[in-house]
This record gives sequence, structure tokens and C-alpha cells, in this order.
Amino acid sequence: MTDGGLVDLREIQRRLIPEEAGAAMHALIRELYPICRSITGDGVRETLRRIARDIPLKIHEIPTGTRVLDWTIPKEWNIKGAYIKRSDGSKVVDFSDSNLHVLNYSAPVHETLTLEKLREHLSSMPEHPDWIPYRTSYFAERWGFCLSHKQLAAMREGLYEVRIDSSLSDGHLTYGEICVPGRSTDEVLLSCHVCHPSLCNDNLSGIALCAFLAQELSRCSLRYSYRFLFIPGTIGAITWLARNEKGVERIRHGLVVAGVGDAGAMTYKRSRRGDAEIDRAVARVLVDSGDPHELVDFSPHGYDERQYCSPGFNLPVGSLTRTPHGRYAEYHTSADGLDFVRPASLGDSFAKYLSVIGVLERNRALLNRNPKGEPQLGRRGLYRDVGGHVEARELESAMLWVLNLSDGGCSLLDIAERSRLRFEQIETAAGLLEGSGLLTEIASARGDAR
Ligand code: ZN
Repeated sequence: MTDGGLVDLREIQRRLIPEEAGAAMHALIRELYPICRSITGDGVRETLRRIARDIPLKIHEIPTGTRVLDWTIPKEWNIKGAYIKRSDGSKVVDFSDSNLHVLNYSAPVHETLTLEKLREHLSSMPEHPDWIPYRTSYFAERWGFCLSHKQLAAMREGLYEVRIDSSLSDGHLTYGEICVPGRSTDEVLLSCHVCHPSLCNDNLSGIALCAFLAQELSRCSLRYSYRFLFIPGTIGAITWLARNEKGVERIRHGLVVAGVGDAGAMTYKRSRRGDAEIDRAVARVLVDSGDPHELVDFSPHGYDERQYCSPGFNLPVGSLTRTPHGRYAEYHTSADGLDFVRPASLGDSFAKYLSVIGVLERNRALLNRNPKGEPQLGRRGLYRDVGGHVEARELESAMLWVLNLSDGGCSLLDIAERSRLRFEQIETAAGLLEGSGLLTEIASARGDAR
């Protein structure tokens, strides 16, 4: 099915091989992994430029000092290198080995000091002696290093030369945005953070999924328009909201995309509203998948759903992840590396995001044109397309549910929930009934003509 060269989303879903999609996403993650990102600076720019090679991303630059809601755009941070040297000139810690070694947003420093004094500026994880922790200090000007506990334990008393060749100066906050147009100006928001350095699940997995989703949706004939944001966490979402206070009225559904590459089961955190269509669509997809999953209520912790769901906006935005942030030991450490994110998990997350979008795209309300008594289905040849016995019974059941509940007040998602049948079955039944003239679509319920 095509519409001006565009493909039906169902076609994309049918052709998807999750392992292949996951492998391609993992390749992008590998490319972006070495870049030292932060909430501002060249690392974010380089990341966005790489994504812009595949999709026409618009890159915004907002100057330092700009007021955004209750916040101010901070100074831009950039870094060239950093080390800790022993008095014999050998290096204990070198930024070129891992960009996690420097406290992210660290002020510049170049001095020589005793181990005792230096310790105040060092972070390690005794419970995981080989891992480097990821630490930040965005809004208090400090300097510091992160290192493995083994490295720290090997440091002897004496003098150490420390150097962090970073700069904090007036510049910009950078974020990327792309809107994939659909028939309606109503939008679905998909937002990921781009502010973490070499961390894979927490950061790069979300970036890769959004980049691939934007690419796939660009090929589709769509009902909604899809707005993708690649933004630094917290301050980026606040900046976007400040600059788009009016535009948010168009957002009908939204998801914050993060942590989609680990081996754990999917977790959906509902929007603050709790019963928005996106909350119900994601729940339906996860239940229908038959895979283990968890549904949790909104809380003002986590990723940028905190900003989208702040009371002044209260947007219907949830967050679909695998293991939630902070609930795996590797979170915010060097162990969240290239081996921690798995192509199979990335591909599975991608397929589930496509399924959610499929439900949003195809959820609609229909009206039974023959509401007095059950219409005679056999006479209309409605069983002919059906193969196996079980399948036939399920589809018959789905048709009865759709006919009974299509009184003008129920959407296909409502019917799927009430009947406990898969959304796909309800949709198939509705299509057959519509084709036979027993149902007509209620135009206003689709919101296309807004
Ligand atoms: Zn994080």
C-alpha cells in the first residue's frame, strides 16, 4: 500500500527483522560511544551531526544566559584532555583512556598536590573495584576525577600533578529536533537525552532507537506527525518547553526513550495523567506481546517525563524503557558499555515502539450500522478469509465484541481492553466488518481534520 511513494506502517512492521535492526542500532552506538558528551559543548554537536547524516535533523543553538522557565542556560563546557601524574611523570589516570575519568562539567585545573588533598577530588566504587563511576557537577563549579577503586588503591603517598584542560565559557546549549509529518498536525513526541559521555544503555540506546524510528517513520504514510527531540537531560527539556509553550498543545501522545538496550524486560512508566491513550496503548502492546513486563505509575523521578509531566504542562507523556534507571548495578558506570547493550534487546525494543505507534495510528471509533440484534455474519461471507479453527473462533469473538461496543462511544483500544483480545484481532475484525458495510468510521474520533 502506498501513498505518494510512502509505505504503510504495517508493511514496515511486517518486514522488520528485530535482530537486524538491533545490530544496526548497535553499530551506531559503537560510533557514538567514544564522544565525550555533556549538557553543552562540542560532544553534543558532534553526536547530532552524526545523526543528521541519516535524518534531516534541525540543530538549535541557545546562548548561555538565556532564561528558560525557572532556569538559565549555563556556560558551555568543552574538554581537550586530563590526567593525574605521579612525581616520576607516569600517568595514574588519563582522560584519553575513558572520558568518564573526568567529573563531567569539571572546571579547569592545573596544580600539584598531596594524595590527601587530591582524595577530596576523587570518586571510585569500592563495591565494583574495576568500574569507573560517572559523576557530574553541572551547577556547582568544581573539579574532580573518577577512577576505578583498583587505581585508587594503588596510589601511594606523595605529590601528584593534576591537569584538566577544560573550558567553561559563554557559548550555547545545543539540541536536535525533527518533525516527521503526518496527515494531522496533532503530534506524537519522542524524546531522548544526549548528554552522557561513554555510556551505552543510559543515553546511546535511546539516541539510536529515536534515530532509527525517525528514519523508518519518514518512509511511512502517517496519521500523526512525529516530533523527535535529541536534547540534554533536564535543562534541554526545560529549554524546549520554554521555547515551545504554545506548540505543546499539539502533543497528543508522547514517550521518553531511554534504557532500551539491556537484557531486562520492558518497563512502562505511565504519564502523570495515568489513563492517557498512550498509557493504555503501551500497556496493550506489552500485554499482547506475551513477554514479561512491568507497568509502573508516574513519579517525579527519572528522565525528562518529569519536565513534560510538570503540572503546568501535564502532557500525556510516559517512558518506555527496559530495566528502569538506577535499578541495575552498571547504571552510571563504565560497565554500561558496548557489551551491556545487546542487539537482540535493541531490536525487541524497536519492534515494541513500532507496535505502540501502530496502535496510536490505527486506534479509531466506528459505528455499528446494524445495531438492532446481531447482524447475520455468515450471509456476508465474513468467515471466508479465516484459516484455522481456533483463529476462526477468536475472530468471530472479536467481530461480536466490535459490533456490540461500536455504539459511537468506544474506540478499538477500548474494545480490546474490555474484551481482553489482542488489539490486532480487534483491528482485523473491525476492518472486515467495515468492508462489509456493517461499520462506518466516526470521522471526528480520528482527529485528522483538526
Ligand atoms: Zn543518566
